[in-house]
Amino acid sequence: MAKDYYASLGVSKNATPEEIKKAFRALAIKYHPDSTKEDKKQAEEKFKEISEAYEVLSDPDKRRMYDQTGSVEFGQGRSDFTWQDFSHFSDFDDLFSRFFGGGGVDDLFGGFRNQGPDLDLAVRVKVSLSDVYYGETKTVKFRRNSVCQACNGTGAKDGKVATCRTCGGSGQQRYVQGQGFFKMVSVVTCKTCNGTGKVPIEQCPVCKGTGTITINDSVNVNIPKGAPDNVKIRFRGHGQSQNGRTGDLYVVISITEEPGITRRGNDLYMQQEISFPEAALGTEIEFNLFKEKILLKVPAGTQPGESIRVKGAGMPIMNSGGKGDLHVRIMVSVPKRLSSREKELISELGQVTQKKHSWFSK
Ligand SMILES: [Zn+2]
Ligand SMILES: [Zn+2]
Repeated sequence: MAKDYYASLGVSKNATPEEIKKAFRALAIKYHPDSTKEDKKQAEEKFKEISEAYEVLSDPDKRRMYDQTGSVEFGQGRSDFTWQDFSHFSDFDDLFSRFFGGGGVDDLFGGFRNQGPDLDLAVRVKVSLSDVYYGETKTVKFRRNSVCQACNGTGAKDGKVATCRTCGGSGQQRYVQGQGFFKMVSVVTCKTCNGTGKVPIEQCPVCKGTGTITINDSVNVNIPKGAPDNVKIRFRGHGQSQNGRTGDLYVVISITEEPGITRRGNDLYMQQEISFPEAALGTEIEFNLFKEKILLKVPAGTQPGESIRVKGAGMPIMNSGGKGDLHVRIMVSVPKRLSSREKELISELGQVTQKKHSWFSK
C-alpha cells in the first residue's frame, strides 16, 4: 500500500515548503519519544513516519517523484526509509535544544542515529570579534579516521577477502523470535563483517584489520562576515570514514569576548571618555574600532552617559552587505588632581555657574 506522506504531516497536496517545515516541527515536538508519556514504541514509529514524510516532501526532486509515482527510492534502490536517509538532523538544532533542553539535536536523534554509524565530526574553533568583522579565513587542523590505503578499506592484507561465513555474504543476520503465529523476524547488520558480507583472509598490518587509519586533516574556514556565535559550517567528506562511507565535518564558530566592546545582534556598544570642557563645548574624538578609525562628533552639551549612534559602523550583517550601528556611550571624566591654574579656572567657573543658578532660581 502506498504511503500518504501528506496525511502523515497533515498538510494539503499543494502545501508550500514553509507549511511542510512548520507541520513537521509541530509534530516532531508532539511525537518525539522523549516528550510523550504514551507508548514509547508507538511514538517512535510515529516519529519515524513523520521524519520519512518530511525527508521526501522537503526535497523537491523526491517530492516530484512521489507525486508522480506514489513512491520514492532511498539510497540504492531501497524503498524502505532508515535513519541514515534522514538528512535534516542539523536543521532542527534550534527547535530541539529549545524543547528538550540544552543537549540539542544529538540528544534527540542520538538513539536513532546510532542505528547507523555516526560519521560526522564537530570541531569548535575560537575566533575574535575582529575575525568576524572582517570575515577572516582560519585553518582548522583536526584528526579523523580515513580509509586505509594499504588495504583500500577492506581491512584485509593485500585486499584479499573471503565471503563471511556468519551471514553467508548477505551482510545481514536474521533473528526469529516467538512461536506459532506470533513470529517476529528482526534483521540486523552482521557483526562479523559489519554488513560488508566479506572478511579478510589475513589482517591488514597497517590498520590492524579496521580498514581505517587516523590521519591529520585540515580545512580552511572562511568565517562569514557578521556570523552569529555558534554558527556551524559544514565540510562535506571531512568526517570519519567507515565501511566505505565518510561523514561530514562541522566547524562551530565560537566568538570570544572583546574587552570594551559589546555586541548585540549587528550593533556594537562601547564607551569613550571626554573631559567636562569637551562635553560642555562639544568636540571631535578619534578612536579605533578593530582596524577602523572612527571620528566621532560630540555635540556641545552632551550629558554623561549619553549615547551617540554612528550609523553603519557596527557589525556586517551576514549575507546582506549592510552593517549595523555603533553606539558610543560618552563618559565625562572628573580630574582627581588639578594644577593651581586649573583650580583657579574651575573655581571661577564655579562662581559664575552659581551666580547664574541663583539668578535663575529667584
Ligand atoms: Zn557477515
Ligand atoms: Zn588496512
